Amino acid sequence: MEASTNLTKRIQELEGELRRKTEWAETAEKYISVEVAKGIFAMLQNNENKNYQSATKLCINCFESQQKSVLQQAASGIQVLVLTCS
Ligand SMILES: [Zn+2]
Repeated sequence: MEASTNLTKRIQELEGELRRKTEWAETAEKYISVEVAKGIFAMLQNNENKNYQSATKLCINCFESQQKSVLQQAASGIQVLVLTCS
């Protein structure tokens, strides 16, 4: 009885995990990595808007961990774009 309950619980966990992965895959499909400035890459929504300056830029590292962190432009020197995520 107990084993069967544990099994059901485990299946539900796996189903939840699968659902999250599927949902993430659908989200990830809508993003592409873009070189927003020289040597600086970010994940941007893949749409017709090619105005990278105003587009929301997501951190690639966080994106790979299935997290959406919005990159903020930090204080930068002349001609140096610094983007940080939280
Ligand atoms: Zn990040």
